[in-house]
Amino acid sequence: MTTKQTSRPDKHDPGTVADNTWFVHGGNRCDDTTGAIRTPIVMANSYQLPEDPTTLDDSDYGGLVYTREHGANQLGLERKLAALDHGEAAAVFGTGMAALHAAFFTILNPGDHAIVSNVTYMRVWGLFDSLLPAKLGIVVDFVNITDLDAVRAAVRPNTRLIHTEVIANPDLRVSDIAALADIAHAAGATLTVDATFTPPPLFRPLDRGADLTLHSLTKYYSGHGDAMGGAVVGASASIEAIRTGALHHVGGAISPFNAWLIMRGTITLPLRIERHSANAQAIAEFLAADPRIAHVAYPGLPGDPHHARASAQLRGGAGGVVSFAIAGLHQDRVRFVNDLRVITSAVSLGHDETLVAYENYAEARASAFDAPFRDHGLIRLAVGLEAADDLIADLDAALTTVYGPAE
Ligand SMILES: *Cc1c(COP(=O)(O)O)cnc(C)c1O
Repeated sequence: MTTKQTSRPDKHDPGTVADNTWFVHGGNRCDDTTGAIRTPIVMANSYQLPEDPTTLDDSDYGGLVYTREHGANQLGLERKLAALDHGEAAAVFGTGMAALHAAFFTILNPGDHAIVSNVTYMRVWGLFDSLLPAKLGIVVDFVNITDLDAVRAAVRPNTRLIHTEVIANPDLRVSDIAALADIAHAAGATLTVDATFTPPPLFRPLDRGADLTLHSLTKYYSGHGDAMGGAVVGASASIEAIRTGALHHVGGAISPFNAWLIMRGTITLPLRIERHSANAQAIAEFLAADPRIAHVAYPGLPGDPHHARASAQLRGGAGGVVSFAIAGLHQDRVRFVNDLRVITSAVSLGHDETLVAYENYAEARASAFDAPFRDHGLIRLAVGLEAADDLIADLDAALTTVYGPAE
C-alpha cells in the first residue's frame, strides 16, 4: 500500500469555526493508511515519485519529493501557520534565523538599502550590521523604529526593506505596524515584521498591512523548550519566491520531528500565551512597585511609554517577556540571577518554565537603549507557566538575599 497522503481534507477550514477551535483542529488529519487520529511523523527524506514524474504538482501532499523542499509534516505545519497568521502561505525552516535570513536574502539585492529597528534580536542586528553589508553590499540604517519621523527621514530611493519586531527583543519597545506599512509601501519597500514575541492570537501583522510575518517557532509556538524552527508567512507569490530561492538552494530545512512537535505546540498556543501574559503582567506590577528595581519595561504596564501602542494593537495581553534593570554593582546582579531557585538562568523564551538572562551590553548597539539599561545592563525575564505567586516569591527572595528587604 502506498503511504502517500492524498485526499482527506482538513476537518475544518479556518474561518468556519472560532479561532480556539481551529487552533485545536487545524492542520490535523486522520492518517489514510492507519486511521490514526494524529498526523504521523513522516521521517523520510524522499517520497515515491508518480508514474510520470513530469506531472508532479508541488502544491499538495501528492507533490512531495524531497524533504529539504517539502515533507508531509512541514507541509501540514505551513498550512496551519499560514491560516493562524491570516496569510495565504507559509514556509517553515530549521530555525528562526534561517527563516529571517531567507526572507532578507530573497528581498534584498546588492546595493539595496534597508531600514532596520535599532533594537532587535541580537543575531538579526549582527546580520544587518556586518554580514549583509559585507557579503551582499546591502546598505543599512538602524533607526529608532518608534520614531516615525526618523523612519520617514531614513527612506532613500533604493530602500527595499523595513524590518522591525512587534515587541522588540530585548527592551520591549513596540512598533506601530500599520504606520510602518504605510511608510514602506509609499517607498516601494517591503515591511517584514518579526512577531516572535506576539504570536497569534495576540497579534497578526498581516492584518495591519505588513508584507511578511516572521517567527522563531523555537519560542512560543514550540512552547516547551525543545524543538527549533522558524517561519515566514505572507502572500503566496512572496512565499514561493522565498521557498524556491532560499529554502531549496540554501537549505535551512526543519526536521519532520521538530515540525511535528511545533505542530503540537500550536494546539495549546492560545491557552499558553494567555497565561504567559497574565503571569508577566503580575510580575511586571510587582517589579514596578519594588524600590530595589531601577527600571521595568513591560508594555502591559499603564505607565510604560509603549502601553498605548501595545493596547491599540495586541489582543488579550502584552506577551510573556519582562525586562528590568537593577542599579548597583555588576557582581550583585550576577548573585541575584544565581540566587533564583524556581527561575533558571538561560537564554530563549516562550518556554513552559521561566528563564532569566542578564546581559551587559558593551556593544555599539547598547546606545539604542534607554539609560537604565545602558547603565545597569538588562535582565530579561521570559515568564513561564508556573504560578505567578511562586515566581514573585522567588524574585523577592533573591532580591532580599542580595539587596536586603524592600522598604
Ligand atoms: C530567538 C529569536 C529569533 C531567532 O530564532 P531562532 O529560532 O533562535 O533561530 C529571531 N527573532 C526573535 C525576536 C527571537 O527572539
